[in-house]
Amino acid sequence: MNYWARHISLAAIAVLLVGYAATTSANPVSERGERTTTVGQETVQRAIETVNKLVGADGPTLVPAWLKAAPAGMTRPQAKDAVFVYLVQSAPDSLKSPASVPRRCRCIFVRPEVAKRWTEDNSKGTGRLQLDEKNFLVFVLLHEVGHLAQSTRGVEFSELDQSMLNTERNAMKKAEEEADDFAAAVLRRTAKAATVSSTSLDANWVVNELSKMSWNMQAFRTLDEFGAFSIGKPSVFFDGDYTHPNLALRVLRVNDLIHSTDETRYLLEAFKEARERGRKSQQAQ
Ligand SMILES: [Zn+2]
Repeated sequence: MNYWARHISLAAIAVLLVGYAATTSANPVSERGERTTTVGQETVQRAIETVNKLVGADGPTLVPAWLKAAPAGMTRPQAKDAVFVYLVQSAPDSLKSPASVPRRCRCIFVRPEVAKRWTEDNSKGTGRLQLDEKNFLVFVLLHEVGHLAQSTRGVEFSELDQSMLNTERNAMKKAEEEADDFAAAVLRRTAKAATVSSTSLDANWVVNELSKMSWNMQAFRTLDEFGAFSIGKPSVFFDGDYTHPNLALRVLRVNDLIHSTDETRYLLEAFKEARERGRKSQQAQ
């Protein structure tokens, strides 16, 4: 199917599904005592359109829950592959993740204020590259689709709390890695497609964004945290909680899954070795 035909058919599915949702579903955001927001609608919608193109038939179709469309005789079986994306209000300094799959809902919550702050914070500092919120969100959403495709729940992470720094392996962290694996596989397949298309170009923008994130995190570790590498400083190299692996480690891992070059492998292994140095020195204390 050519690009526009595919684009239009996805849009048509979305309109049908939204009509279905508007008439039959309660709002999972208010059900959880939270509020929806209109902040970031346009950016998240563009990210959703890209995710749907990249995932194609390998996963569900994401639908912006805020689109208002007339019901079009949607029946329940037709909607089984629709996943509604809700925009949830949060203070910019909230400790929530930019996106998550909430408990008991086959849906995704995006917190645009948190995503915006994350891209701003991670673009600041010496030697940093300006990150792009939309391309960052595409990766975040691909990760959440990975949770849905594997029926694992994307739990909220809490931000760095020094008392929770750890290198433990557990099932929650494994589920996070598997969701990253899904995102990496989609990006690798679409970015390296034999024929160039708007889909492969979109994928390459996201792959490029991941390289920028990796670069910025490397700048943080070597410029802001000079000396951290040699000792494997826990606040830099350990996991910030018991649910998610270290974000910089995740980005290095995803980059290596996508590119599989000597360089991406070296960066990943060097990070793991520093982490191991930190773990051993903590054990020895
Ligand atoms: Zn997750």
